[in-house]
Amino acid sequence: MGVKIGVLALQGDVAEHIAAFRECLADRPGSTVVQVRRVADLADLDALAMPGGESTTISRLIGKNGLYEPLIEFAGGVFATCAGMVLIADRVDDPRVRTLNLIPMHVARNAFGRQVDSREGYLDVAGLAEPFRAVFIRAPVATDVGPQVQVLARIPEGVAAVRRGRHMAFAFHPELGGDLRLHRMFLEGLEV
Ligand code: GLN
Repeated sequence: MGVKIGVLALQGDVAEHIAAFRECLADRPGSTVVQVRRVADLADLDALAMPGGESTTISRLIGKNGLYEPLIEFAGGVFATCAGMVLIADRVDDPRVRTLNLIPMHVARNAFGRQVDSREGYLDVAGLAEPFRAVFIRAPVATDVGPQVQVLARIPEGVAAVRRGRHMAFAFHPELGGDLRLHRMFLEGLEV
C-alpha cells in the first residue's frame, strides 16, 4: 500500500524533506509526497513533515493560513526537524512561537549559543545499530520531556531526538546528508 506524506511548505528546507521522503518511498507504488500550505492540503495524509527553518516565521504563517487547529487535530504521524521540533512541542522559551502541543516537552531555541551555533557529529540514536551523522544548525534542544515521551538521543545540551506514538522530532536534520534510516523508522511506526 502506498502512503501519502505532506511537507509543510510555508518556510524552511521544504525541498530537502520532499526529496528525502520521495527517495524513501521510491519502491512503494502509489506513494506520494505533496506540499501543504492550506487546510485542504491535509486531506488524506498519512503523515506530515515539519521542516527546519525559522520557527517564529513558520508559526506566524501557520496562523495566517488558518492551520493551527487543523494541525493540532491532525491524525497522522508528524516528522519534525529543528524548527519543526520547536513547533511540535508544548512549551518553548520564546513567546513569539505558538506551539502545536503534539509532544509534551519544553524546547529551548538556539540552544548552542551564539559563538558556535552549528555543528556536525556522530550521535547514538536508540533503535539504530550504527551512529547517525547529525547536522545541527542553530538547533533547539528539549530540556524537559513528559513521561510518555521516548528519548532517542541526547547531547550535552539536552535531548536531541524523541518519539511519541507516531510522532518523531529531531533537533538536527535527518533530511540532509542522505542517511534515511530515521525516515524509514518513522514510516515503519506509521504502520503500527
Ligand atoms: N533556530 C531556528 C528556530 O528556532 C531553527 C533552526 C533550524 O531549523 N535549522 O526556529
